[in-house]
Amino acid sequence: MFGWNRKHCAMPVLLWAMLAGRVEAGTELVRFEFQQTHMGSPFDLVLYTMDEPTAIRASNAAFARVAQLNAILSDYDPESELMRLCDRAGSGPVAVSDDLYRCLARAIEIARASEGAFDPTINPVGRLWRRARRDGKLPDPERLAKARELVGYQNVRLDPNGRTVELTKPGMKLDLGGIAKGFAAQEAQIVLKAQGVRHALVAAAGDIVVTGPPPKSEGWRIGIAPLDGPTPSPDRVLSLRDAAISTAGDAERFVVIDGKRYGHIIDPRTGQSLIRRASVTVVSTLGDAATADGLDTAVFVLGPEKGLPLVEATPGAAALYVERTADRHLREITTTRWDALRRAPSPPGSAPDRATAP
Ligand code: ADP
Ligand code: MG
Repeated sequence: MFGWNRKHCAMPVLLWAMLAGRVEAGTELVRFEFQQTHMGSPFDLVLYTMDEPTAIRASNAAFARVAQLNAILSDYDPESELMRLCDRAGSGPVAVSDDLYRCLARAIEIARASEGAFDPTINPVGRLWRRARRDGKLPDPERLAKARELVGYQNVRLDPNGRTVELTKPGMKLDLGGIAKGFAAQEAQIVLKAQGVRHALVAAAGDIVVTGPPPKSEGWRIGIAPLDGPTPSPDRVLSLRDAAISTAGDAERFVVIDGKRYGHIIDPRTGQSLIRRASVTVVSTLGDAATADGLDTAVFVLGPEKGLPLVEATPGAAALYVERTADRHLREITTTRWDALRRAPSPPGSAPDRATAP
């Protein structure tokens, strides 16, 4: 998690902080934008506040929270709480922090609901595929078979009373990369609210959570990453408030080996990296970004027939599944709640506030 094939930054780096608009303290909301690198990805904050000191204070607190979560949830940092928990696999229950417990518990719920299509114990297999992507060589089948034996969310035992986690198989390892950016983005919004910021967008790379809309608008304009990779103007733009949105796909992170394309999402049932020309976007109208993030990965693995019912069954969730068919047409399937989402009006030349990314 968190490194993917982008460079992992252990320390947050302030790339830029842009202050836009005229500040007339106390009279109107002014837009402020900040960006730092966390979890191997750019994290963007767009805030509307009455004055600059509030925006700076709130954004610093939100970024500090994300850095704290990275130190807990990263599987790239051997010292993270997650990795220290993994070091104790096979040796009984371990007391964990509230943050790790909550994130892992949500991941396990999605694993159960998806019957293991989403599985946070994918790490040993995921590591082999990460190396494969780096070296341009398929994983050794024997090593892959061994790694697969360590995968199985049923081997994670959670005790909510003692807030302990037990990994029952020695050698098993967790990867929260399919859910942690959404979780962190949502926690950042909680911090912003506590700082009095009610109109904000948090984008953990392409995992986006928004609260109240920009002044004089119905919602934040959020573009949906197109199937075939990033373009400056996504062809679809939603207008969202108090919502979370996440896209999973293999448009950006994949490797081609022997003419076949391998992405960064793995089917835990086969141990194979998925080759699907598809993208899945999940919106949570409850603003539950961890769920949006986890579900898009689950639906990507399951495909539309089995995956979309999972979204239908999740309160407040809606999904768009886009795939390229064998005859190179685009096929789009949506869940019932998708049609109720508001499309953003598109004045000529206006760019979305942010766009999702697979
Ligand atoms: P993004 O990183 O763009 O948010 P996803 O939300 O789809 O993408 O998550 C992909 C990440 O999830 C992978 O990089 C890996 O860390 C992890 N992962 C891959 N396959 C699975 C799976 N089947 N279940 C759970 N996590 C997975
Ligand atoms: Mg996801």
